[in-house]
Parts: sequence; structure tokens; C-alpha cells
Amino acid sequence: MQINQTVLDTVVTAAISKCGGNKRWANAVRRAATELVTNPYVHHDGHALLILSASGQMYEANGVCQCKAYQSGKQPCWHRAAKRLVELAMAH
Ligand SMILES: [Zn+2]
Repeated sequence: MQINQTVLDTVVTAAISKCGGNKRWANAVRRAATELVTNPYVHHDGHALLILSASGQMYEANGVCQCKAYQSGKQPCWHRAAKRLVELAMAH
């Protein structure tokens, strides 16, 4: 996904500051920042963020997610964090 690194750094810092000490969300945001740069298949379709994970699973993050973290009690996950980061970066 093409994201300006400076913009990404800015939105990541802002996002982590809004996690209010929630370590799971802060970690999800950090993981998302890494994945957005290194994962070759992350695509925003204007509606959801489509992510092909390393395990071959396709996730469609849009408030909800199909990953284990979300399915087991709606825990924070990097997929949804990534969606937010992408949207913040696009609006930058
Ligand atoms: Zn997820």
C-alpha cells in the first residue's frame, strides 16, 4: 500500500496517543504500522481495508473483523487499527 512514511509516522503517533494507555490497542497500532509498509497485499476499497495475512487468510476490516482476536471477544486487532491508520493518512 502506498503511504507516505512521514504521514504514516504522524498518524501512528496520533493514534497511539489516543489509545489512552490501552496496551492492546497501542500494540495493534504499532503492528499495523509495520504491516502497512511490509505487507504487499493491503488494499482500501473505499469501504473496508482488505488484508491478506501471512497465513493466507483474507480479512475485511470495517469496524468488524474476521480474525481470532475480534471473534474472541472483539479484542483489538491490527487489521482494524490498520484501517483507521489508512483512513487518517488518506485524509491527511
Ligand atoms: Zn482483525
